Amino acid sequence: MTEHSPVTQTDAKPVKTMAMPDAQTVTEVTHWTDRLFSFRVTRPASLRFRSGEFVMIGLMGDPDPKTGKQKPLLRAYSIASPSWDEELEFYSIKVPDGPLTSRLQHIQPGDEIILRPKPVGTLVHDALLPGKRIWFFATGTGFAPFASLLRDPQTFEDYDEVIITHTCREVGELEYGRKLIEDIRQDELLNELIGAENLAKLRYYPTTTREESPKMGRITDLMRSGEVYRDLGVEPISPEHDRAMVCGNLAFNLEIKELLESYGLEEGANSDPKHYVVEKAFLD
Ligand SMILES: Cc1cc2nc3c(=O)[nH]c(=O)nc-3n(C[C@H](O)[C@H](O)[C@H](O)COP(=O)(O)OP(=O)(O)OC[C@H]3O[C@@H](n4cnc5c(N)ncnc54)[C@H](O)[C@@H]3O)c2cc1C
Repeated sequence: MTEHSPVTQTDAKPVKTMAMPDAQTVTEVTHWTDRLFSFRVTRPASLRFRSGEFVMIGLMGDPDPKTGKQKPLLRAYSIASPSWDEELEFYSIKVPDGPLTSRLQHIQPGDEIILRPKPVGTLVHDALLPGKRIWFFATGTGFAPFASLLRDPQTFEDYDEVIITHTCREVGELEYGRKLIEDIRQDELLNELIGAENLAKLRYYPTTTREESPKMGRITDLMRSGEVYRDLGVEPISPEHDRAMVCGNLAFNLEIKELLESYGLEEGANSDPKHYVVEKAFLD
């Protein structure tokens, strides 16, 4: 597989090995790079969530050598599909020795995964005060919650401008996001649902830190130097007009938090909406 040619599976033979609690069926799997894949599963009829939230998903663990009993092996995953979608989409890392993803990366259409239908999270519109422009700052798989929010009509109804920045080491790691933005702009259903004039509000700012690409650099450095604002032709971030959601690794989250606070933005929560919200893309 090359990094730039995603492989999508939709018609493989199902492998069902055991009856699982909260089981959902895999409907589609796409491998984006050797380290990244996305997949879609059936959605429990009772599951309601706000775009941007996460749930616990996983597989049954290996049998306990003493008792022979199996326990579910669950991890937090942002739901990458919007709240109106009839299926659920997830965007995942493949950690070579990761307890869950070393196995999850091999799922195929027809297989079952476990999904606990209890969505939670801070990357939701309810946690922000009204504003004019929303910034979504993502690194790596931190793009997932924004894949949900970018397909939610509310995002475009609430703001005059929607800016998504995505920083990865290599170009191939941007591909899931790049393709999603392209689909949002071209998809007839989304155009109808969100409205062409609303979709014109969407700005996409991908950057790489290692492999050569049209825009290189860490987004925090590009903010400090003012380059991102010059590139996009917008005023620097201010608490009057700008709102932000952040999803990346711990070091990135801490750095951008400090930067946003230096602009005068304050961190919000579901119970106390303010100017920006942050969530970890994974636990270090
Ligand atoms: C709120 C929240 C939401 C999350 N959403 C997603 C998501 O949408 N997609 C996703 O792939 N993961 C997500 N994660 C991480 C996920 O829960 C697991 O850590 C991941 O699936 C790896 O599981 P594992 O059992 O294979 O390895 P783990 O034992 O969980 O992790 C092993 C190590 O791999 C690294 N790692 C784990 N996840 C990532 C990642 N996403 N990117 C880069 N390095 C990583 C870390 O260094 C970690 O210590 C989320 C985590 C949190 C806390």
